[in-house]
Amino acid sequence: MTLTAGVVAVQGDVSEHGQAIRRAGETNGHEVEVVEIRQSGIVPECDLLLLPGGESTAISRLAHREGIAAEMRDHVAEGRPVLATCAGLILLSQDSGDERVETLDLLDVAVERNAFGRQRDSFEAPLSVRGLEEPFPAVFIRAPAIDSVGDGVEVLAEWDDRPVAVRQGSVVGTAFHPELRADPRVHELAFFETGRAVTGNGQGK
Ligand code: GLN
Repeated sequence: MTLTAGVVAVQGDVSEHGQAIRRAGETNGHEVEVVEIRQSGIVPECDLLLLPGGESTAISRLAHREGIAAEMRDHVAEGRPVLATCAGLILLSQDSGDERVETLDLLDVAVERNAFGRQRDSFEAPLSVRGLEEPFPAVFIRAPAIDSVGDGVEVLAEWDDRPVAVRQGSVVGTAFHPELRADPRVHELAFFETGRAVTGNGQGK
């Protein structure tokens, strides 16, 4: 079965996410067609969504203006999966701590933008992630940290004693950029481990 993966293409590592989800699909016996989302009307066609990093202020503004934000809410309400990374995690949070970012409240977490400080603007860390046997080479770029998590949120990874990867229902959020290493395990974890994508709504071709 071919799955349709939508990458919100307002900003960020769009092609890298496309490659990672294709690779993850391959390992799990699925062909994946990747479509880029810049306007409304595409999200409803997608079995799964990827929300890259970038600047959460800009992504939030465009996602709301283009009507993509409302469609993402419907996507999640239907139990379809999403992987949101870095600024994507900020957008899906309940509270970004910054009024310029109108969040979607699809993950019951409060985040702090750029939480790892200037001197560590960007770093790579071998991260233990729940569900993965070996550490994941996690690249953090001006990453947010998660300050608090609601009851329904499972913490998948922590760094510096702060959650940096979470799952709530069909939504996985990471503060780091799993698309930047040729390692599709986090994409697999988000979309295939539970078989959710496979049981999608049948709109994938
Ligand atoms: N610092 C950015 C923000 O707060 C996120 C950085 C990223 O996505 N790599 O929006």
